[in-house]
Parts: sequence; structure tokens; C-alpha cells
Amino acid sequence: MSGAHHILILGGTAEARALAAQLAADPALRVTSSLAGRVAQPRLPAGEVRVGGFGGPEGLAHWLREHKADAVIDATHPFAGTISFNAAVAAAGVHVPLLALRRPRWVAGPGDTWHCVGSLPEAAALLPGLGERVFLTTGRTGLAAFAGLDGLWFLARSVDPPEPPLPPRTQVLLDRGPFTVEAETELLRRHRIDVLVTKDSGGPATAAKLTAARELRVPVVVVRRPPVPGGVAVVPDVKGAIAWLTALVAPAVPGAGPTPPRSRSR
Ligand code: NAP
Repeated sequence: MSGAHHILILGGTAEARALAAQLAADPALRVTSSLAGRVAQPRLPAGEVRVGGFGGPEGLAHWLREHKADAVIDATHPFAGTISFNAAVAAAGVHVPLLALRRPRWVAGPGDTWHCVGSLPEAAALLPGLGERVFLTTGRTGLAAFAGLDGLWFLARSVDPPEPPLPPRTQVLLDRGPFTVEAETELLRRHRIDVLVTKDSGGPATAAKLTAARELRVPVVVVRRPPVPGGVAVVPDVKGAIAWLTALVAPAVPGAGPTPPRSRSR
């Protein structure tokens, strides 16, 4: 592996796995994907994999130095704001180039009734005015924000069991996307859902619920994303990430072979 550029992918998303698959096939690169370790049975990416937190920005900076990382691609979920912030601090501290891969936001179209809010508590505050049977698709954490809504019924969907406290009238549905419009429409109908709550995760894997909600005229509460840390370059897809990396590791002189992305002290 010596001589190969070492790329750290902060993962936990389909994009991160797709990126790892492409980069790991390049013998000029050494690819390590990092997973938080939250999901019991994660889908493992190609290349090397490490699991678990780094111990804040200092821990991540230490890891980057110790493992001689040449670049970091933050391909975490748009709502994983802490690790993205940590990556920005750590990468700047050890002068390692950082890119954020963020899938585009969802955009409301004709026929959609969206209520955009800044947080889960704001979403909870809106719900009693919108419906009585809620499809909650904001993941396994943060459901405490809805726990006081005992007048409403919830269908809460997540990959792993949600963290308590939950609203008293909650049915948990353990499932992992991608989902189809047909299946989402049937689910909304079967449970007589009259309001949907989602994060603005973006991407196609979980977008079918929005189409189903539009067709059934179900209002949607959309929680806005946290911002990408200032000064960090952003691309919307794997193609953009590969173009960024190619420019970074391109040979300075054609035919001279790969050169390190940037000189720095370690
Ligand atoms: P978070 O709030 O941004 O991060 C909390 C802590 O978890 C971080 O400080 C870090 O611990 C650790 N961590 C997070 N992502 C990591 C990674 N890829 N590798 C190593 N450590 C990581 O993140 P979260 O919202 O809990 O999400 C955790 C992971 O699940 C993310 O990697 C994300 O891509 C994935 N995910 C999140 C969501 C979501 O809705 N939030 C949805 C789907 C997938 P240390 O400070 O100790 O380094």
C-alpha cells in the first residue's frame, strides 16, 4: 500500500459506499471508510473499514496524522452535523484537504403541501394543527421531541429500534430503504396517515414517501438540514467527488506519476 494516496471517507450513506466502491478499485489509492457504529448490521463498503467515533476533532486529527491520510471526503448523512463540524476542524488543523459530498435537497413541486421547520421540536409543535395519524420518518434518535403528543397516533419507521422516550401511542416499523411509491402509498393508506414528518435527507432512496404524500394530499413537515461548515468545498454526487479527488492527485507533469496532494507536516 505504500505510495498510494490514502483517502478517508466518512461514511454511513449509500453515496459513501458507492464512492468507496469506485475508489477502492483504483490501485493508486488506499481507501478507508469510517462508520459511526450506530447500526447493528451496517452495509459494509469496499476497501478498509474502521468503526466507532474518533474522540472529537482532536481524535480525528490524530487519526489523520497517524494514518497519513492525504484527503478526507465527508460523505456522511446531511443531518450528521457533529462529525461534519469535527471533520472541518480536524482537517484544517492538520492541513488535509476536505470535501463534503452532500446529496441535493428535496424540492417541493406542484401539489405538495410542505411545512419547513428548523428542528424536531418545531415539527412536534406544528403537528396537532395538521393531523392525528402521523408517519414519523426522522430516524431512531430525537423522538423524545414528540413524546408529549399523547393525542396523536404515530407510525415511527427506522432501521434499528428507536431510542425512548416515544409518544405513548406509537407503532414502530423497522425497515430500511429504498422504498417504492407503490409501497409507500399502500403504507400511508393502510395506516390512514394524515401527516408525514421527514428530515430533508434528499436522494432517491427515501423520496417515494413524498410522492405518495402528494398523491394522497397528505401534508408533510420537512426538517431543514444543518449547514455544511463554512469554507468546506461541497459536491452533490459521487461523480463530483471523483473529479475533486482526480484534480487533487493529478500528476504535476503528464506521465510523471501521481504526486502527493499537498505537502504538509505530520
Ligand atoms: P453526528 O451526530 O454528526 O455524530 C456524533 C458522533 O458520532 C461524532 O461526534 C463522532 O464521534 C461519531 N461519528 C459520526 N459519524 C461517524 C463516522 N462516519 N465515523 C466515525 N465516527 C462517526 O452523527 P449521527 O447523526 O449520529 O450519525 C451517525 C452516522 O450515521 C453518520 O456517519 C451518518 O452518516 C449516519 N447516518 C445518519 C443519519 C441521520 O439522520 N443523522 C441518517 C443515516 C445515516 P466522535 O466525536 O467520537 O468522533
